[in-house]
Amino acid sequence: RAVYPVAHIKRLDENVVNRIAAGEIIHRPSNALKEMIENSLDAQATSIQITVKDGGLKLLQIQDNGVGIHKEDLPMVCERFATSKLECYEDLSNIATYGFRGEALASISHVAHVTVTTKTNDSPCAWRAFYSDGKLVPGKPGTSADPKPCAGNQGTQIVVEDLFYNVPTRRKALKSSSDEYNRILDIVHKYAIHNSRVSFTCKKQGANTADIHTPSSAKTLDNIRYVFGATIAKELLEMEHTDSRWDFKLEGLVSNANFSTKKMIFLLFINHRSVDSSNLKRAVEAVYTEYLPRGTHPFVYLSLEIKPENVDVNVHPTKREVHFLNEDKIIQTVCEVLQSRLADANQSRTFYTQT
Ligand code: ADP
Ligand code: MG
Repeated sequence: RAVYPVAHIKRLDENVVNRIAAGEIIHRPSNALKEMIENSLDAQATSIQITVKDGGLKLLQIQDNGVGIHKEDLPMVCERFATSKLECYEDLSNIATYGFRGEALASISHVAHVTVTTKTNDSPCAWRAFYSDGKLVPGKPGTSADPKPCAGNQGTQIVVEDLFYNVPTRRKALKSSSDEYNRILDIVHKYAIHNSRVSFTCKKQGANTADIHTPSSAKTLDNIRYVFGATIAKELLEMEHTDSRWDFKLEGLVSNANFSTKKMIFLLFINHRSVDSSNLKRAVEAVYTEYLPRGTHPFVYLSLEIKPENVDVNVHPTKREVHFLNEDKIIQTVCEVLQSRLADANQSRTFYTQT
């Protein structure tokens, strides 16, 4: 048997640890963007403008008109476990914001160069700060790392440059910037549909026209029509249900029996966060098998509001798959509501064709 020297155990350098941890949270540009969109929504923004270069690998910029960040807080923005949204562990059970653990920007700053420009409404000017590895750094060599005053409107602009510049394996794994850009568009579409009171814009840097622009006056249905087209939009049924037994609220727009597509379009929001639930998806599809031709699928947009204490939010940020208390019962109830909605619509359709 070969004899190997036994290596000694050594503590990893803090920045190495943080970079590894960051890579587990931020897999690709669209993960980073989702976190930043949620921050803008947490900051009460009504306008969110996104600019992208090279699928977000070169540049990912997001500008909002939210409440901004206090100048004194700027040194902590990219610090791990620093947040304005949670004060004690108990707060976790009724958290109403998307963010709560101050991990996103910290992670991003460990795998990219981050610039934050922000202005609160009581500040006479905006402030700009640069970050690397969780800390403030000088914008130019030889200058101080302190935030610098500059001109700007109320709100926050975050610029993420050269994502994964220090993680060559990750960088190599992300070969196609058009694929990354499509994932970005997908995230923006979903959040635009779910937040119809917020105007979203997304474009490539230097492009004259935006690839997404939703006005703030739009309705959810308008945004679905804008993103997925009129063919879907005209075949949608509204769903609404408040359930006292299992303590949840359901809203949705789902396609009727006239519409079908090759691949299911499933937009699920739980407590306003875009998530996956393969259990719910499977159950919903099963309801449709009775109404759709074999091998075809529906369009389903569902928004569930479940008491925060019943949703396991403290899962890993990249785990979009969520679980919640009474999951089976809630899924069953959602399916019953859907079933009766489809049955009603189908009946009135038959009725109309008969008369
Ligand atoms: P979390 O959202 O979990 O608090 P983040 O790392 O995403 O953690 O953000 C850290 C903090 O930075 C937030 O708590 C918030 O105070 C501030 N922040 C980040 N983005 C924005 C934004 N767009 N507008 C206002 N404040 C922001
Ligand atoms: Mg956040």
